[in-house]
Amino acid sequence: MENIKELGLLNALDKGPVICAEGYLFEMERRGYLKAGPFVPEVVLDFPLAVKQLHEEFVRAGSDVVVAFTYYGHRAKLKAIGKEDLLEKLNRNALEIARNVARETGTLLAGNLSNTWEYEPDSKKSHKTVRSIFDEQVAWAADEQADFIIAETFGHLGEALLSLESIKSAGLPAVITFSPATENSCDGYSWEDACKVLQDKGADVVGLNCGNGPDTMTPYLEKIRSTVSVHVAALPVPYRTTNEQPCFQKLKLPNTEQAFPVSLDPFLLNRYEMAEFAVKARDMGIRYIGICCGAGPHHVRSMAEALGRTPAAGKYSPDMSLHPIFGDKDVKENHVACLLGPVQDIK
Ligand SMILES: [Zn+2]
Repeated sequence: MENIKELGLLNALDKGPVICAEGYLFEMERRGYLKAGPFVPEVVLDFPLAVKQLHEEFVRAGSDVVVAFTYYGHRAKLKAIGKEDLLEKLNRNALEIARNVARETGTLLAGNLSNTWEYEPDSKKSHKTVRSIFDEQVAWAADEQADFIIAETFGHLGEALLSLESIKSAGLPAVITFSPATENSCDGYSWEDACKVLQDKGADVVGLNCGNGPDTMTPYLEKIRSTVSVHVAALPVPYRTTNEQPCFQKLKLPNTEQAFPVSLDPFLLNRYEMAEFAVKARDMGIRYIGICCGAGPHHVRSMAEALGRTPAAGKYSPDMSLHPIFGDKDVKENHVACLLGPVQDIK
């Protein structure tokens, strides 16, 4: 989107769709820079250029937002791998890498919080721990000039509310999303009610990300869109989830083994299926449209193009007319036979 940096997130959303590419953990893991299992983004310290490159690829593909790679970069996660001393450096590095790309490309810089795995609904002590985890990450994001903050993949409304309070106390716009792995939140709210509570407490954008593919996320999104008045966010994973296996953690391979997290390839949706989702989401009145774990720049580009954008990477979007077998008649006539047999038998 033109001038999104000047407009700011909320004005941009009032004008039309904002595209947000996520899925850094999975893509960095696929590229060999991050360990599946702990899923801690140490890559921002070890291979900052790899992170910068992916930010740039997502922007070239059409993302309006550069999300600082601090997902699972919070104190509890760093403690779990014995590297708590790297916490601040990791966060600041991630924010700096993302800020440089955002400022160079005129896009928005988002700080990023995630669920902590520390939240227990009935434990005031855990609430205090979680709030302090959010507060320090929000402070670093604000200090590194984040334009807004995404807090995501929550299962508990209670934990999401703690993130919201933290972001609002820093005076930044808050995009808060749940991962609907279950029918209701872990603390018993329907997803639309949980989003409504967030809205009423001051969240600027509410919705869902991760966990579900487009088919199983859409029914929840419809209910959320008709329940809240603020802008809605929708960032499914690009995987073929079903009513029987509604989230990617539940997808099973033919041999019944769990496909999550590193054997999900056979379930991957193609770029056009994600583009179809982007259009459907827009037509439902959703303005904050994106993609989560499993995303590649090709998905983002097709989504952007389907929404009427002309991203830089569109220069290399497919043009099959010049393909020697499947292309236009003139081209094909020069390639009468091939490994697949005579061309006239193929089409
Ligand atoms: Zn995700």
